[in-house]
Amino acid sequence: MKDYKKLVDETLFFIAQKGWTINENSFYDSLAIFLGEKLDMAYVLIDKVGEEEGSVETITFYANGEIKTNISYPLQNTPCENVVGKNLCVYSDNIQKLFPEDDMLVPLKAESYIGIPLWDSEGKAIGLIALLDTKPITNASAIETILQIVAVRVAHEIERNNYEQALLNKNKELERQNKELEQFTYIASHDLQEPLRTLTSMNQLFQSEFKGRLDERADTYLKFINESAKRMQMLVKGLLDYSKIGKLDNFAEVDCNQVVKEVLADISLTINESKAKITIEDLPVVWGYKTELRQLFQNLIVNAMKFMDKDIIPEIRISATEREKDWLFSVKDNGIGIDENDKEKIFVIFRRLHDRSKYEGTGIGLSNCKKIVELHNGNIWVESVLGNGSTFLFTISKV
Ligand code: ADP
Repeated sequence: MKDYKKLVDETLFFIAQKGWTINENSFYDSLAIFLGEKLDMAYVLIDKVGEEEGSVETITFYANGEIKTNISYPLQNTPCENVVGKNLCVYSDNIQKLFPEDDMLVPLKAESYIGIPLWDSEGKAIGLIALLDTKPITNASAIETILQIVAVRVAHEIERNNYEQALLNKNKELERQNKELEQFTYIASHDLQEPLRTLTSMNQLFQSEFKGRLDERADTYLKFINESAKRMQMLVKGLLDYSKIGKLDNFAEVDCNQVVKEVLADISLTINESKAKITIEDLPVVWGYKTELRQLFQNLIVNAMKFMDKDIIPEIRISATEREKDWLFSVKDNGIGIDENDKEKIFVIFRRLHDRSKYEGTGIGLSNCKKIVELHNGNIWVESVLGNGSTFLFTISKV
């Protein structure tokens, strides 16, 4: 073996240089090659504790200058059994005689073995590094030092990978649960429509058939039933629309000028009634879901006209600013404004700040807007002073 001090320096340099590897396998593989070559050992195995109890699996398996396919093996009757969760072990020669039941040693023609356990930061056994050779080991103490240096780094890397994997699994699980919840919302709101339709039509039938035969009180009750059923229908329809956001395959280049123009045409009656003055600045062409973007602009413009003191003519300005990674849109009104404490609440589904008798609505519009904006990798928020108008701002990612 080379000069011992030089080897320690080279090991430290290797660890420092490979400290920020992006590709985890390149770290383990290159470390195994480094150890194999520098320590002149035929085999280097970096193992982590396997899923099956009492077994380990290789993260990298270096054999005679090459990285081989990973394997897993039971620890029982192998020299590794004395290492994992235990101590550094050195068997300088005659390894096959010492572990006659280890059926890997013969095909490897192994003669000697040195292994070091790997521990995580909480002291849990997470694996080992094992070196084997076809000749006796003569410089065990130098190899031990090198292994002690690299073991800490490898253990950290394994621990980090385990955390990353756990996080990935958690994200996948959350994604699955989210999909399940969306599916549930869709099915529930879809299936609720039918009995509701029956309820309203039966109610209407009942009212027309028994007209004049019921007293005033009964008529009032029926009227309430009818109104509630209609409102329930509106809520269920809103929920169904909410669950459908992003489900249509309509991702394309969207000219926002065109979209807003179409929205204004659709709601021209309301605009004329309120005499609203709507100013539209030059808007960009973005990549997005056209139907959803249309719904987004419509919800914000309708709200801007709706949440207005009587006798005040709505003034609405729609504009956009280009930024490095996204477009920042704003819909500004001169309406009733929103209290500081309510600025986040209003984006929660079914949350409303006013009585229905004053401002009609379901409380679904802004949660739709939030879902649509998030579908475009953006954010939505409001800037407002109570009594002094609101500006809804949202971003649409350029990517
Ligand atoms: P809806 O309009 O059906 O009530 P939204 O989800 O669209 O439901 O809005 C939630 C609440 O946010 C509204 O009930 C209202 O209190 C408030 N809000 C929304 N837009 C404005 C606005 N432009 N000005 C003032 N308040 C608003």
